[in-house]
Amino acid sequence: MGVIDEVKQRADIVDVVSQYATLTKAGRTFRALCPFHSEKHPSFFVYPEQQSWHCFGACNTGGDVFSFIMKKQGIDFGEALRLLAQRAGVTIPSRFEPGAEGEERQRLYQVNQAAAQYFHNLLLSSPAGEKARSYVIGRGFSPKTIADFQLGFSPNSWEGLKQYLMDRGYPESELLTAGLIIEAEAGKTHDRFRNRLMFPIHDARGRITGFGARALDDSLPKYINSPQTPIFDKSSSLYGINLATAAIRQQDLAVIVEGYMDVITAHQNGFPNVVASMGTSVTQKQVSVLKRLTKNMALALDADAAGEEAMLRSVDYENTLNAEVKVIILPSRRDPDDVIREDVTMWQYLLKEALPVVDYTFNKVTSELDLTKAKDKSSAVDKLLPIIAKIKNAIRRDHYLTKLAESVGASYHNLEAALSRIKPDRWVREPKEEAIARAKHPLLSSPIEEYCLALLLQHPELKHRHEGLSPECFQNSENREIFIAWQRSDKIESLKERLEPATHEHLDSLLTRNLLSTEIEQKYAECALRLREKFLRSLAAKIEAVLALEAQSGGRAADLAKLKEQGIEVNIQLGEVFAQKSRRKLEQMGVRK
Ligand SMILES: [Zn+2]
Repeated sequence: MGVIDEVKQRADIVDVVSQYATLTKAGRTFRALCPFHSEKHPSFFVYPEQQSWHCFGACNTGGDVFSFIMKKQGIDFGEALRLLAQRAGVTIPSRFEPGAEGEERQRLYQVNQAAAQYFHNLLLSSPAGEKARSYVIGRGFSPKTIADFQLGFSPNSWEGLKQYLMDRGYPESELLTAGLIIEAEAGKTHDRFRNRLMFPIHDARGRITGFGARALDDSLPKYINSPQTPIFDKSSSLYGINLATAAIRQQDLAVIVEGYMDVITAHQNGFPNVVASMGTSVTQKQVSVLKRLTKNMALALDADAAGEEAMLRSVDYENTLNAEVKVIILPSRRDPDDVIREDVTMWQYLLKEALPVVDYTFNKVTSELDLTKAKDKSSAVDKLLPIIAKIKNAIRRDHYLTKLAESVGASYHNLEAALSRIKPDRWVREPKEEAIARAKHPLLSSPIEEYCLALLLQHPELKHRHEGLSPECFQNSENREIFIAWQRSDKIESLKERLEPATHEHLDSLLTRNLLSTEIEQKYAECALRLREKFLRSLAAKIEAVLALEAQSGGRAADLAKLKEQGIEVNIQLGEVFAQKSRRKLEQMGVRK
């Protein structure tokens, strides 16, 4: 659960508001003299069930616990989040802290840069670096390549780097945080990387986040990495991304390989759109990083590794991208590094022959079977149906289901029935506790708000379609924040800068959500209507509750009249929404007025 949701769960709106206003219980609501404007008779209400508030007086506005604090203290969303988190005892992870922690990160990038320079100089000219030098020359790396990738050498010494950096004013604690030294026993530290070829790992913005290191002798493991640090997370890093970004955008394709050597050899031979996953399998986080550059990805896989497991994972990436992922099948036990060095045209051929992952799996599975035999037919279905079931895009799923039915000579309907038996549990992704927490708390998630935002964020062409949406329609504060930032930004890139870092995860999930890319305008018009309807209905219910209350207690006539007026206004707006809805329905049915 994200930090915003955690704060929401712990900060009860009645508790929070009662710190600023004297609340009196009235039926299922609480009322008070409005803490924002001066009044003699209470028109400010708190609704514990919806975890929301509304002022029917001069303010005529409402929202959730965040918007209450923002309005009351005159602060922005981030400050309100910090204030509520502090009161609720929720710790905000340092990566969301803009000020002080931001400085810490900057220093870590700097110390990594200094370490990379140290390793690089040693590789270029030190006597101790002789062996490493002859190794990289033996691999055929040009001086330009060595400089572009800032390759380096870490000497076989316990304190070489540590002394070098401390002499330049970097404190020992910082070297530890950056993972450049290790605390072997209490108070005693030494260099992490010794007698290794060094590969600085950059982020897309060219900052060094960590290092990979290859042994130059027989020591094991052959490759080691920086540990997880405030700026290094192996699962979201892509080796070579700093040098590949432009080419990936330009060619509209990212090729993903496994190792450092593969990337370097590819770049040196004129394939600059290649990056490495830094491990045996690609992660969702890495796919999300690449998704900002292109929708098209090709995975280079060893023929032995391209089993059904790997293919199932690849379908997950397809779902994230909402596009096909291709696989480049390498000859058995060959790396891209080997292939490219031996024969560049072979690599070009393999790239050209790359197949969409599901097609490749089809070919592979069926080529190993005799589809005239009943036993082999059912084996093909057993292997392929789970992969098809994973495809979220309905059109593509249907395409492959038809293809499978044809290849095994089974009826489409039987296969579809079998598919629906596998589908449900494979599609449940949300951990149970979170699902329950969401159901319990009204503001933890709002599917319509999120769907609407995802459409707006992923389709800039909707920017100028109004559809009557206002920030108020978004009850959930972080959704409202994102909507306001979207209204004010020209580009998605500048949107993030306007937003509190704690909302970035939520924003990313909206930006990468799978949406069918057909009839976008209609979908947007529909969901904007639903959102307006939801907002107006909830407002109408709130007004009604208050009116009922006033009627019971013989409330003041003037206030009642005003409230009734507001109720009528809301009902008129609701009427407009209904009229628009039925017009849309008629249009869809093809009926002309
Ligand atoms: Zn008010």
